[in-house]
Formats: sequence, structure tokens, C-alpha cells
Amino acid sequence: MAGMLNFTVGPVMSCQEVLDIAKISVPYFRTPEFSGMMLQNERLMLKFLNAPDNSRCVFLTASGTGAMESCVANILDNNDKVIVINGGSFGHRFVKLCEIYGYNMDEIKCEFGRQIKKEQLDKFAGRGYTALLVNMNETSSGVLYNMSLISRFCKENNILLIVDAISSFITDEIDMAGLEAAAVITGSQKALAVQPGIAAIALAPSAVIRIENNKEKCMYLSLKSALKDMERGQTPFTPAVTTLIQINKRLTIIEENGGIKAERGRIAELACYFREKIKNYPFELVAEDKSNAVTALHPVTCGAKKIVRILKDEYNIWACPNGGGFADEVFRIGHIGHLTKENYNTLFSAFDDMKRWGVI
Ligand SMILES: *Cc1c(COP(=O)(O)O)cnc(C)c1O
Repeated sequence: MAGMLNFTVGPVMSCQEVLDIAKISVPYFRTPEFSGMMLQNERLMLKFLNAPDNSRCVFLTASGTGAMESCVANILDNNDKVIVINGGSFGHRFVKLCEIYGYNMDEIKCEFGRQIKKEQLDKFAGRGYTALLVNMNETSSGVLYNMSLISRFCKENNILLIVDAISSFITDEIDMAGLEAAAVITGSQKALAVQPGIAAIALAPSAVIRIENNKEKCMYLSLKSALKDMERGQTPFTPAVTTLIQINKRLTIIEENGGIKAERGRIAELACYFREKIKNYPFELVAEDKSNAVTALHPVTCGAKKIVRILKDEYNIWACPNGGGFADEVFRIGHIGHLTKENYNTLFSAFDDMKRWGVI
């Protein structure tokens, strides 16, 4: 697996400074030094998200799904009437979570890869809904939802907006204050490009108040205790210490190199480079409006599984397969992690070979 060129959407390739951190023995963490680092992580996360004043950020030792569950469990309760935008496997995850917690929930189903329409939202106006859950980038298709449309609908109807930005943090613009989002969820193994293990949740005061007032339903994923410990830069339980140190390194590097906008620009440029060149190959682009994080492709001339397998076995290149019903219809090429244009050229040479041999 060494030397693989990784175009998946996570875990992705890390820069050398981050890799160097993985080599050290894990330091003890109940120290003022670790607390100071955590508070800096919080500050930078909130800055990069343009979170409103008095927002907080907590770091859970969990994959992104753990943070999705934590938000559903801690911010919402049985008195809520929830809307889930469901346009693929990550939307479906929010649906399942609401079902497990027994909430009153309705879905807005979006066709795979399609943008949400105003009419779809308008049907839910003035009907007593209190919260809306959306995956800003539905990573299974790479569609980037129209967040200003969704946010306007939530503002007009006094609906709490919870955003899964696990694959859109850094890659696409997120103005948490402007959107008036109550919570924004991110994860360590996507564009943060460090090891898996940490999910961060930025919480606006509107979410913090709900968490304080709601009855605690769980222990490990409790945001009430996470918020309390984070006041002093700590976590209730042993965190993925190395991943948190790597996050600190990444956030600091981004801050020192022109900030979030510059890093987003770098990712957008790679996405743009790829999407321009891929026009020369027999693939259809799946998503109507695309996140910079990933491009989902539908191969016209052969199955998606075969392409993913050939890239892996013959070229040491990882493309991202799709699951479920689209497994042989769609595969994805990511634009996150430590990637360069040269890396894409390597991928295109592989596609050239496959074209020459009549595989695609
Ligand atoms: C990756 C991802 C998740 C979380 O996946 P985990 O495997 O639990 O880290 C959730 N939502 C979106 C949109 C994602 O891209």
C-alpha cells in the first residue's frame, strides 16, 4: 500500500509535516501545553468557519458519523420536527439517525447528483418544522447544495440549521454566521488531511443553549460534557491525541500560508484542472453543482468497478468506489489531501493507456 497515489475522499494523503507527527510516541494530554493547543485548534476552526461571536468548538474522538449522531442526540429532542435533505448515502445516514432516536422527521428526497429546488423547500414552510439537517456536500455524488437557499428558508421559518460539512470544510466556502447555522460538523480525514479519529463540531450560541437545556441522552457523545471540558481545552475521555496534534499542525500551516481562502483556492484549482481535462475521456460528470472536494464520474463505456480495480492493481492509484446501487455506475476522484497537478497527470496517463487498450 506504500506509494499509492490516493484520490479517494478520505483518508487522504497528508503533507510531510503531518506525517512527521505520526512517528512520535503519543504524549500525555492532561497538561497545560495540550490544553493550550486545543484552545488554539478551537480558535482557528471558528475563524475558518466564520462562526458567530460566542461560538464554541468541540473535538470528539469519533469518525464524522459520531459527530452527526452527537448533534442529533444532543441538539435535538423529541419535541423537534425535523427535515432531512436526502440526496444520497450521507443524507440517508441522517434519516437513519432520526429514526433511531425516534424523532418526528420528514425527508426532502433529492435525486442523486441533483441540486435542491426552492419548490421542494417551500412545501415544508409554515408547518411547524424546527430543525433541518443537510450534508452540504453529499459526498456520494459530489453535489454541493445551495446553502444560501437552504439558509434563507431556515431563517424565514425559524428553523435550526445543522450542517454536515465533513467533506466541505476547507474545500467550499462556509460562512457559519451568514448562514446562521447552529452547528457545523467536520472530520479529520477529509480536507483537513490528517489521520482519521477526530470529528469537530462548531456550535453557535443557539446550539449551545439547546445542549444546556436538553436532557443528556448519552455519555460518550455528550456535547454537554464536551463543552464543559473544552472550557479548559480538555476532553472528557482520552482523545485521539496524535490526530489532534496533526490538526493543530494543519490549521497552523493553513493560517500561515494565506488562510482558509488560499487553501480553498488551491483545492478549487485542482478540481478545475481535473474537470477540464476529464472532458477528453468517456465519463459523464454526475453532479449538477459540484463541491471542490470531489468529482463523481459515470463511465459511459465500461463498469465503474473495473476502472477502480485496474487503477489500483496496475497503477497503484486509488480512485474512490461508490457503494450501494451506484457501485458499478459511478466512481469518484477526490481533490483533497496532499495532491498536485502532476499527480493528476499520472492519473490521466493511466486513463490514456486504458483508452488505447479499449478498456474505456
Ligand atoms: C465522510 C463523510 C461523513 C462521515 O464519514 P465517517 O466515515 O463517519 O468519517 C459524513 N458525511 C459526509 C458528507 C462525509 O463526506
